Amino acid sequence: SIDLDGVHLSYGDTAVLRDIDLRIKGGEFMTLLGPSGSGKSTLLNLMGGFARANAGEVRVNGAQIDHLPPNRRDMGMVYQNYALFPHMTIADNIAYPLKRRKMSKSDRAALVRAALAMVDLHGFADRRPSQLSGGQQQRVAVARAIVFRPQILLMDEPLGALDKRLRDEMQSELRQLHEEVGSTVVFVTHDQEEAMVMSDRIAVMNGGRVEQVGTPHELYSRPRTTFVATFLGEST
Ligand code: ATP
Ligand code: MG
Repeated sequence: SIDLDGVHLSYGDTAVLRDIDLRIKGGEFMTLLGPSGSGKSTLLNLMGGFARANAGEVRVNGAQIDHLPPNRRDMGMVYQNYALFPHMTIADNIAYPLKRRKMSKSDRAALVRAALAMVDLHGFADRRPSQLSGGQQQRVAVARAIVFRPQILLMDEPLGALDKRLRDEMQSELRQLHEEVGSTVVFVTHDQEEAMVMSDRIAVMNGGRVEQVGTPHELYSRPRTTFVATFLGEST
């Protein structure tokens, strides 16, 4: 589970997250949905322990996030800018979290192959990130996050650079992985249709606040604010 209580975060005088209370249950697929600048990435980075709130608490499985060293967290993360290591091959990028967990070379190779297959990038293992398209790099970032089948998976617009066919394919791969592993997933998107098909629940964000949290059906049939109604009604 991931619990946020009274979370507030400002950069200088600008409040970016305000009064956030959010409970994400273990094994739940939760989507943060909202327009550009609404605070989705900032909230996700807080959950990953990459940013610190000015007030309030962020707890992951009951423990305050900043009390756990990164390599002890059973957490996979896809960053919005992919954050691949440019000097490493694709295979080494994906193997990185396994290496950090001191897994043997042969176990690593098998898992890397499986992750590459899952994102449909067989044959790319020995290239470097700069030799890949944006969408291919994004899929490498997804492969690196899922390779150790983490209990918690945080993904920031992981399918944003993909065309419709790949996007549909990856949506079902990620849902399937989530179900197989039983992982808690926090998924960021600004695409309401994607949120509707992927999520157990959706948190709609606007101007640094969570406007409403509910199942896709609840949000669609009983939007609590005009913003929620209008935003869900728009199609991209
Ligand atoms: P997008 O959909 O464009 O990725 P987002 O919902 O992820 O948007 P955030 O990246 O969380 O939005 O940013 C929320 C707000 O915080 C924005 O107005 C942004 O300009 C501001 N912000 C983010 N990082 C910083 C920073 N380091 N310093 C100052 N302001 C920041
Ligand atoms: Mg963002």
